[in-house]
Amino acid sequence: MERQEMAREKILIVEDEENILELIRYNLGKEGYLTEGYATGEEAVKKARADGGDLILLDLMLPGLDGFEVLKILKNDNRTETIPVIIVSAKGEESDIVTGLELGADDYITKPFSLKILVARVRSVLRRRKNLSQVSEGMVRIHDLVIDPARHEVKLKNKPIDLTATEFRILQHLAQKPGRVFTRNQIINAVRGENYIVTDRTVDVQITGLRKKLKTAGEYLETIRGVGYRFKD
Ligand code: CA
Repeated sequence: MERQEMAREKILIVEDEENILELIRYNLGKEGYLTEGYATGEEAVKKARADGGDLILLDLMLPGLDGFEVLKILKNDNRTETIPVIIVSAKGEESDIVTGLELGADDYITKPFSLKILVARVRSVLRRRKNLSQVSEGMVRIHDLVIDPARHEVKLKNKPIDLTATEFRILQHLAQKPGRVFTRNQIINAVRGENYIVTDRTVDVQITGLRKKLKTAGEYLETIRGVGYRFKD
């Protein structure tokens, strides 16, 4: 009842298995979200183009266009590119997750999933989206860290921490979107322009170095095995 005054966020769910679709809709509905279900990517894309939505839950194995193709279409269309996407799929292989993230998905959940986790991820992605629209580019304050790109300065509990340029950029990139998983490739692209070549292996080395320098805040840098890294939200 207390939710009725709030603007309800709308979630489009693309899922060809009816029982799973109903289960997700029922549980998100209970949380106060508006939901719309689609059995094919084509229908969902059409709907998202016409009147958006706040979030899309996307299955990968679909009749017709598969989830990756749907994701490409959504992320290459200015009407839909800003709508966050969470992949919900039985394709739990790391390579699929990496592909999904690199195509622009915000997060992923593998089937079978816990409904609690699903709801938590949905909340987290929607919250991040709201925060992003409120916070201007630049200064990041998170937990007890302050990251100031203008001064190229990081402070932990008000004490400055000395980072290399690459470490700084990796930290800034991850901390700007807390909770979001970045693949090693995405991190490499973000720090490109430095004077040396960054490889998968160097990303791992940089993160290890960062964790040490960040001391207690090092634990905010989470390893997502086989995929990449994220800054804890
Ligand atoms: Ca499916």
